[in-house]
Amino acid sequence: RNNQALMAEIDRICEVAGYLWEKGWAERNGGNISVNITELLTEAEKNLPALAPATQLQEVMGELGGHIFYVTGTGKRMRYISLKPFENGSIIRITPDGSAYEIIAEQPISPTSELPSHLLMHNFLLSKGRNNKVVLHTHPTNLIALSHSPRWLNSAYITHTLWSMIPESRVIVPRGIGIVPYELPGSMKLAYATIKQLEKHDVVLWEKHGLLAVGEDIIECFDAIDTMAKSAQIYLDARTAGFEPVGMTDKQLDELAVAFNLPLE
Ligand code: 13P
Ligand code: ZN
Repeated sequence: RNNQALMAEIDRICEVAGYLWEKGWAERNGGNISVNITELLTEAEKNLPALAPATQLQEVMGELGGHIFYVTGTGKRMRYISLKPFENGSIIRITPDGSAYEIIAEQPISPTSELPSHLLMHNFLLSKGRNNKVVLHTHPTNLIALSHSPRWLNSAYITHTLWSMIPESRVIVPRGIGIVPYELPGSMKLAYATIKQLEKHDVVLWEKHGLLAVGEDIIECFDAIDTMAKSAQIYLDARTAGFEPVGMTDKQLDELAVAFNLPLE
């Protein structure tokens, strides 16, 4: 705990966990967070003894050998993670061969049930040479509501419509939203379906379940989801007021992409 770089990162995780609760996206234990903290640790910290026997992963994650993560605990509440990160989460180290993990600090708190997805995403992004650090998963009410409509379960449609609600939307989430049709939470099937979407997107919607964002910075991951939720809310508020929002025109969206040097649709 006297590692200042680590504690600064833990503070940012706590900050975001608090936002997830305040936003109303974290009913009971809803949502989970993993952050790759390997680079923040000293050699001594990296070699801390395991607190419990190693747990096998369902698949070997070759890229993750020796990597160390802070992960929120299964069944733990965001509102308490934000106050007591080491009573509601733990630090895990992947074994050198990528086949198992060991909890090394501070208490033997079992990682989130979505660990297969989180680790497969970290593994996939590292294999692509991306300096990814964070996987953030949460349950934003308005976006989950949209995912109950077949019309919205279409990456091009949801991305275009949400981008068109306010200009910032496309600037902050330039790679749009990927869609994963419903799969059992915590399953390898969900994990594999998710990494497919990471080829093109940094934000992914799990049908009738929630959102996740990947990136180098946990605050940016939160902001990406928050911005999509804001656009979804504008859309739904307009509908509640009795009209279909017009949305920015295609010309306005194209102009924005050029001005901000964003990838085209
Ligand atoms: P955990 O409490 O196991 O993290 O599960 C919460 C969740 O959101 C599952 O998708
Ligand atoms: Zn969930």
